[in-house]
Amino acid sequence: QCILVCPVGAIKERSAVDAVWAAIADPTKHVVVQEAPSVRVSLGEELGLPAGTLVAKKMYAALRRLGFDAVFDTNFTADLTIMEEGSELVERVKDGGVLPQITSCCPGWVKFMEHYYPELAPNVSSAKSPQQMFGAVCKTYYAEKSGIDPKDIINVSVMPCTAKKFECQRPEMNDSGFKDVDYVLTTRELARMIKEAGLDFASLDEEPAEDLLGLYTGAATIFGATGGVMEAAIRSAYTLITGRELENLDIEPVRGLEGIKTASVNIDGLEVKVAVAHGLGNARHLLDEIKEGVSPYHFIEIMACPGGCVGGGGQPIRFDSTLKKKRGEALYEEDRNMAKRCSHHNPSVEKIYKDYLEKPLGKRSHKLLHTEYTSRPVV
Ligand code: SF4
Repeated sequence: QCILVCPVGAIKERSAVDAVWAAIADPTKHVVVQEAPSVRVSLGEELGLPAGTLVAKKMYAALRRLGFDAVFDTNFTADLTIMEEGSELVERVKDGGVLPQITSCCPGWVKFMEHYYPELAPNVSSAKSPQQMFGAVCKTYYAEKSGIDPKDIINVSVMPCTAKKFECQRPEMNDSGFKDVDYVLTTRELARMIKEAGLDFASLDEEPAEDLLGLYTGAATIFGATGGVMEAAIRSAYTLITGRELENLDIEPVRGLEGIKTASVNIDGLEVKVAVAHGLGNARHLLDEIKEGVSPYHFIEIMACPGGCVGGGGQPIRFDSTLKKKRGEALYEEDRNMAKRCSHHNPSVEKIYKDYLEKPLGKRSHKLLHTEYTSRPVV
């Protein structure tokens, strides 16, 4: 079944709703769900709540009522991404590796790079996106911990993004030995399921996600806004390099909706220069600088959608230009109110390294959490 999203009917969004209902109804399957950072500040709009309402805990409750067997959170693997990607940056800076490093968590940007800038693939972090990291650890680490055969696990993700539907189909995203992520629902599709189930979303009592793959920090939640991945990475990279905590965790220059944002962070005498672009037109400026050999940056964040994932193609469709701003502000407010605001302080991240992965960039991390890119030149 398809939902029409293009005004002239040229492009159709393939819906996963029926397949997910079928998986939930299958008693032989253990159906697990993860939700991206920005979904928690946009889902409410489809269900009668004001834009920018943080609904993470109502969303967990709703997912349990829909019949999911385990409710986790992509924010957990956003923190894991920072550990891997931040360690990769530190390694590149210390060992004279390829710089600038560019973020890899947006599949829209990654595919654009493979088509139009394949020569820059060595600059792109090898870290998988949080969605795909989740899939890989769910069908290995979680399967082992819970004693469930990974062949019986169905992994569903809820994303702000139609490009994530493509990402989970990539042939290299099977590092668990199975398809790491089985189905991707957009924010709109989850709202549709909640309506189909007749749930009164606004009146649901709040519930937590499950700890093992569900705890997260403020650094993870701001992934949903442009500049958020960069800010989260700086918070942890500072500690990884110096062994000390960054005093001011609010990296204001990389926040907001300006097309290209830049900042410079002094880490023990090293001036680390960073840039953030959202929207691929803005990204081209930074990418062309790299090609011309004049990029002054060590680390660049690129998100394909204007505003980052809060403005993603799977989000509620409204013709209100203030929405992205309200959704982004809600993410920064959640971050401000959290007791732990740095990915390296996530106790479930500490646990997965201790019990299973050993260390960032270690052998098992490399197998499950990192990937390679494919050159797809446009001729
Ligand atoms: Fe998807 Fe857009 Fe977010 Fe990229 S920025 S991950 S394309 S929603």
